[in-house]
Amino acid sequence: MSNLSSKLFAVAKQYIPGGVNSPVRAFKNVDGEPFFVRRAKGCRITDIDGKTYIDYIGSWGPNILGHAPVEITNTIHQVAKDGISFGIPNPYEVDMARMICEWVPSVEKVRMTSSGTEATMSAIRLARGFTGRDYIVKFDGCYHGHSDSLLVAAGSGALTHGEPDSAGVPRAFAEKTIVLSYNDPDSLEKVFQEMGDRIAAIIVESYPANAGLVFPKPGYLALLSSITKKYGALLIFDEVMTGFRLGRAGVQGLEHITPDLSCFGKVIGGGLPVGAFGGRADVMDRIAPMGPVYQAGTLSGNPLAMAAGLAQLRELSSGSPNGFERLDQIGRYFETGLSGLMNQKGIPHRINRVGSMFCLYFTDREIVNVDDVMKQDMSLFKKFFWGCLDRGVYIAPSPYETGFLSLAHSEADIDETLTVFEEALAAI
Ligand SMILES: *Cc1c(COP(=O)(O)O)cnc(C)c1O
Repeated sequence: MSNLSSKLFAVAKQYIPGGVNSPVRAFKNVDGEPFFVRRAKGCRITDIDGKTYIDYIGSWGPNILGHAPVEITNTIHQVAKDGISFGIPNPYEVDMARMICEWVPSVEKVRMTSSGTEATMSAIRLARGFTGRDYIVKFDGCYHGHSDSLLVAAGSGALTHGEPDSAGVPRAFAEKTIVLSYNDPDSLEKVFQEMGDRIAAIIVESYPANAGLVFPKPGYLALLSSITKKYGALLIFDEVMTGFRLGRAGVQGLEHITPDLSCFGKVIGGGLPVGAFGGRADVMDRIAPMGPVYQAGTLSGNPLAMAAGLAQLRELSSGSPNGFERLDQIGRYFETGLSGLMNQKGIPHRINRVGSMFCLYFTDREIVNVDDVMKQDMSLFKKFFWGCLDRGVYIAPSPYETGFLSLAHSEADIDETLTVFEEALAAI
């Protein structure tokens, strides 16, 4: 790796566990070391050694307009002059809540948090408090942040009581989380038949996008909706990644599903730390101070974060084509080019894409759940990753991550990227 980055990483490791503040940044899945960023603008990132990359991560989702868009940087400058945090209500919170409720029909009331993890954690507590039940259902391969109830892996037993997926998660917590295989209606029906009256909620990534990018089989999301209704449980859509990226109403808008609660993050913060959860008013009104379910946050609804998020959402929904339509155009252009290239090279592959989200798999098997994602050619992926990085294209340093396009990616940027892909593949 480059000089200054490598030196700084050695220092970072002295003072920060693993040298990073979030594990995927350590590049362990590609057997390497990260670069350090000096600055980023549009679709390009420049490292501290002065090398520039076309970026397909966008800070893992938030930077949907590209890096440092003037709409957001100007807003932050402007708003910061009047104060950075108050701990008292500010008007931006109301504008943000109203915009979310107007754009996402299932959301009647919404509470802001400072991360997606807090949003899902709070939605789970609320579902338990509302239903008076303890069990929740999640799916293998879906990531919902790192709270105890959700860092749970499939258990080995006949029934699917979860096991801790991290040291430090008490077994007693994990046992209250049932982990099922995604896209498998039979296991779902079986669990609800056996213990449906003790299940508070199903939580699901609206399109699972943290272990590859996986799409629901036809009717699967509708089944989640009907089965929760039938048994008096709540359906929680985790749209932290997909919300405001795939359209004004996220996946629920595309798939015509009405979840009871939804979680958001990433794009709604414009790159500042934000999350949100919202849904049915009768459920949301169970939160303190209205109800008995406690939830709070010193920086929740922070004026800078709200204003930055609002600026981003307004920019996305304006113009003709609007931002979402343009992102789909550019996504299609990227997919067509990439699949053409892979076919031409005769490399077994699959590309899952929706709008500006994509995942390239080095396998030609159908991707139904996380097991399929795991079965691709990992060594090929690693070589491809480093081949791209060397040539100035930064894709996710892990075969389990979804890639992101932004409004700052032009057709010319994509053509340049495809040339790099071609050279990287040829060098393998
Ligand atoms: C990123 C993500 C989270 C966690 O959000 P943080 O802001 O990292 O805490 C939760 N759910 C999904 C689907 C995510 O993609």
